[in-house]
Amino acid sequence: MNILLIGSGGREHALAWKMAASPLCDRLYCAPGNAGIAREAELAAIDITDHPAVIALCKAKKIDFVVVGPEAPLCAGIVDDLEAAGFKTFGPTKFAAQLEGSKGFTKDLCKANNIPTAAYERFTSAEAAKAYVRQQGMPIVIKADGLAAGKGVVIPQTLDEALAAVDMMFGGGLGEAGAEVVVEEFLAGEEASFFALCDGESAIALASAQDHKRVGDGDVGPNTGGMGAYSPAPVMTPELTRRAMDEIVIPTVRAMKAIGHPYKGVLYAGLMITAQGPKLIEYNARFGDPETQVLMLRLMSDLVPALLACRDGVLKSFDLRWYPDPALTVVMAAKGYPGNYARGSVIEGLDAAGEIEGVEVFHAGTKADGGKIVANGGRVLNVSALGKTVSEAQARAYQAVDRIRWPEGFCRRDIGWQAIKREKSG
Ligand code: AMP
Repeated sequence: MNILLIGSGGREHALAWKMAASPLCDRLYCAPGNAGIAREAELAAIDITDHPAVIALCKAKKIDFVVVGPEAPLCAGIVDDLEAAGFKTFGPTKFAAQLEGSKGFTKDLCKANNIPTAAYERFTSAEAAKAYVRQQGMPIVIKADGLAAGKGVVIPQTLDEALAAVDMMFGGGLGEAGAEVVVEEFLAGEEASFFALCDGESAIALASAQDHKRVGDGDVGPNTGGMGAYSPAPVMTPELTRRAMDEIVIPTVRAMKAIGHPYKGVLYAGLMITAQGPKLIEYNARFGDPETQVLMLRLMSDLVPALLACRDGVLKSFDLRWYPDPALTVVMAAKGYPGNYARGSVIEGLDAAGEIEGVEVFHAGTKADGGKIVANGGRVLNVSALGKTVSEAQARAYQAVDRIRWPEGFCRRDIGWQAIKREKSG
């Protein structure tokens, strides 16, 4: 098959690395890709928001299957447009992608189907939202309805901060995403990322993973897209996995089918493991980044037939096998991220880093410039490793990090600390 992958981040490099290894894959293309993906796929420098251009590329390259990585093209309806043009595509339709694109849509679906999630109300005016916030009191969570690149959730420390967050969102601080606001109950517990492949009717769980959202060691500082991840996540016991499937993922797949919009693709559930069991914090309609980087290292089975089975609605008889070894990834970011940062600094030592046993260096934001690799984003590299234990995977990843010469970059030094603490305590 000729396969086209859409996207340009570390998630897409990991997917490209895995798909390129499939005996089913003849030629792999990626639009727009990055300098690391160029090792696995032929890059196509097109604008992926231009759907006719993507369709023209599919025709020119005789593409048999398209895999969409990021949420923006899914929410823009790229799957609908490609399927209408006759190209098999992995990912949810524009309607189904509302599970990620609209928090209000998801909350209403949960309420109607008894799917456990935080209690909430939706608002379209600041006054009504503030009155509700005052009535509920602290702690409370304020969320913009739409896609806000990870900035749409405020967990205020004080009532004044809560009211200010409402005003900021309705005042246009997050653009269109804040035109509607969801105010919800604060959930206490440990978080876990839970992934399932869905074919519109059934779903199978992927291995568990946990990411580190805060920029600083010890999980402090501003939120980011993710500074590192590891798999498996010890918090997701087999019993909790069963409950997450039975109480959250399967009812969602059934509900989407019942409203005439079957969900096909990856369903990424952000869960809070509360005293009452798993509760849904949010859905994403695509693979997690950087969780995918560790999942792909641990996946023993071929990814391509699994993604095809989702598209074709034949996932039922499917099973995936995983290496038991843990995997861990460290994100190297440009200094200043998640605030302002510079592009264009030169990165060296990547080959030496990749020579360490069990290590794969995935590129997240790089481009080739002459013979050099230069930084081209906030999150730039995902230095990833397998090991017999989380401690070994972590040691290998940081050994690789230390071989990379990039003075303009930084990383956290404690990725996986909770899992290692559990490992050491027995
Ligand atoms: P979201 O974008 O919805 O995943 O929210 C970002 C982060 O905010 C989550 O990963 C949680 O850490 C936190 N969060 C969101 N909703 C809640 C909630 N209802 N209770 C506690 N924490 C929350």
